[in-house]
Amino acid sequence: MLVIRTIREMQSWARTARAAGRRVGLVPTMGGLHEGHLSLVRCAQTHADGVVVSLFVNPIQFGPGEVFAAYPRDEAGDVALCRDEHVDVVFCPDAGEMYAPDHSVSVDETALSANLCGRFRPGHFRGVVTVVLKLFHAALPDMAVFGRKDAQQVRVIERMVRDLNIPVEIVIAPIVREPDGLAMSSRNRYLSPSERRRSLCLHRALTQVEQRVAQGERDAGALRERMIAVIRDGDPPVDIDYVEVVDWNTLRPVDHIRGETLVAVAVRIGRTRLIDNTVVSGAGC
Ligand code: AMP
Repeated sequence: MLVIRTIREMQSWARTARAAGRRVGLVPTMGGLHEGHLSLVRCAQTHADGVVVSLFVNPIQFGPGEVFAAYPRDEAGDVALCRDEHVDVVFCPDAGEMYAPDHSVSVDETALSANLCGRFRPGHFRGVVTVVLKLFHAALPDMAVFGRKDAQQVRVIERMVRDLNIPVEIVIAPIVREPDGLAMSSRNRYLSPSERRRSLCLHRALTQVEQRVAQGERDAGALRERMIAVIRDGDPPVDIDYVEVVDWNTLRPVDHIRGETLVAVAVRIGRTRLIDNTVVSGAGC
């Protein structure tokens, strides 16, 4: 396994791999790898024969007061996990390699970014979309895998790929959870034991939605109310950023569940912001 730190070397590896007829897959991450990330690696390996994992904590996607400086970094541990998974290349550029001091070009998605996390994290998706495009230009992948854990992120990236004619296939991998249901996240390590217990309200709320939709409930307002009640039931109750029921394609709120629908939540527990979601469908009723 190679560890590559410069864009030039990364591009050179990718060009050579592609010239030899290998299909290159990219798994972009910010490091702090856990089973969720590793599931993306395994998914990429089923679609590609040369897999690149990028480890880059992207400064431009964090707002003021967000956790950029304190974001968990363990390059040696991450590299070891990638080696165990038979990754071909770990790409870990530093911020100076990725951004010229006077960089002045970014990519803006203006529709799907507006709602959900976009309302609470101004500039976040500009940072995400810009870095993903830069990583695509570094690793020159044929395909890239993203987790549905960050559902809005992957929809925004799919839109960028469509609108900018980027020749990269986007594959979405399912959410990997802890045995008790908490979606795995690098941020979970910030939770104190009591916050960790309270975090389970997210999965409880989403499971109830899945059950109610399976029983025939289609009213988005009723589902939201139920979720808010479940999430607020803790002691002390967690702070809700949003609980939304939106169309998967447009990410606009819906009144009734018909086609593929994203039910997404974001909360703050102490100083940690957690997101989770489920996708339900009203099809057939
Ligand atoms: P991050 O390192 O948090 O930026 O995440 C890198 C990629 O891993 C993104 O595509 C995430 O959606 C994905 N990811 C993070 N956590 C999970 C999880 N629990 N299950 C599936 N994918 C995940």
